[in-house]
Amino acid sequence: MDFQLTEEQRAIQEMVREFADKEIAPRAADIDRCDEFPNDVFQKMAAQGLMGLPFPEQYGGGGADTVSQALVVEEISRASGSVGLTYAAHLSLGCAPIYNFGIEEQKKKWLTPLAKGESLGALALTESKGGSDLAGSVATTAVLTGGEWVINGSKMYVTSGAVARSINTLCVTDKSKGHRGLSMILVPRDAPGLVIGKVEEKMGLHGSLTTQVFFEDCRVPKENLLGAEGAGFKQAMMTLDGGRIGIGAMALGLGRAALEASVKYAQERQAFGKPIADFQAIQWMIADASMELEAARLLVAQAAYLKDQKQNFSQQAAMAKLYASEAADRACWKAIQIHGGAGYLRDFPVERFYRDNRLTLIGEGTSEILRMVIARNILKNQ
Ligand SMILES: Cc1cc2nc3c(=O)[nH]c(=O)nc-3n(C[C@H](O)[C@H](O)[C@H](O)COP(=O)(O)OP(=O)(O)OC[C@H]3O[C@@H](n4cnc5c(N)ncnc54)[C@H](O)[C@@H]3O)c2cc1C
Repeated sequence: MDFQLTEEQRAIQEMVREFADKEIAPRAADIDRCDEFPNDVFQKMAAQGLMGLPFPEQYGGGGADTVSQALVVEEISRASGSVGLTYAAHLSLGCAPIYNFGIEEQKKKWLTPLAKGESLGALALTESKGGSDLAGSVATTAVLTGGEWVINGSKMYVTSGAVARSINTLCVTDKSKGHRGLSMILVPRDAPGLVIGKVEEKMGLHGSLTTQVFFEDCRVPKENLLGAEGAGFKQAMMTLDGGRIGIGAMALGLGRAALEASVKYAQERQAFGKPIADFQAIQWMIADASMELEAARLLVAQAAYLKDQKQNFSQQAAMAKLYASEAADRACWKAIQIHGGAGYLRDFPVERFYRDNRLTLIGEGTSEILRMVIARNILKNQ
């Protein structure tokens, strides 16, 4: 994403690339193989001031813009998809709702420790009945009783749910109002009645903890409501808009890692007496992957730029995530093809990139839902 970067953005990009190459990339294969949650890596990222990067300094953040955030997510994901997803979700899903919808005291109390990197944050929207149709599937209820929200229900697929200090949770507070009866409530990790379920076994992203969460008469102070009662659905949609820039950047990082590995391998591997990079079939795969990732880079940059300019970026964020995730999927597919049998072995990293990237076509809006979002925006505006 070198398109018209400012001095500051370029400096952050270079600093994080160096950090990720030194501190994350050498660990990535082991994190994947051992399902290891690399807590120490997040502590090092906190020391670099990355865990609150886009939030104001008064809340322990770095005061950077969304373009910088996307650059950092890309660099971290290029080194490890697991660390990349955990980081992207922490910023966009754990921290951003508190910053965007919380009042001053909530920001001080809940955002500051997250932005300083003392702990991770999480967001719980999805339930067993389905993630795409949020309005129709949220059944977790929150009832105001004696100055407390009493929450009952369960959530699935909560990224970092097992380790988060706080979980922004979408609940039904008035069933009669449909999606206008949904509210976002911040549930602290030590809230009585909050039960963390099993950590899911996944195809990829083995170092990211994806967890079920149960609320059994879970009691949370009344003042933990984020924003207005009934605003939860809108807040969830706004949060996902921002999050999609992060997932687009994550895909970009994984796609780039796959492309770089392919180029290196194609120059080293010999067949028919010459490097396979000399064959046009291989060159075309490299050219197509490179071109598509470049296009994805511009879409991610555009969405981030619009967000920074406080313009409507919902459609561009959907396009950025959709295109980047599918371009990276194709780049990873080609990387395995270029590696031949070696690409299918765990000895080489490209099969990991392929598995890790697959999530980017599903989480925070599937490719099908994003096509609906884009089409709706276009049809509405003409
Ligand atoms: C690793 C991982 C991490 C995640 N992290 C989080 C998290 O931190 N917080 C959280 O709340 N959730 C999280 N999720 C959940 C994720 O956002 C959902 O899985 C996703 O939104 C899809 O929901 P679903 O799995 O219920 O699929 P469904 O909604 O059941 O969809 C199934 C299929 O039907 C298609 N479909 C559905 N409706 C339509 C339609 N109208 N038109 C066309 N096709 C349609 C979908 O595109 C998909 O192909 C995570 C998931 C994973 C795998």
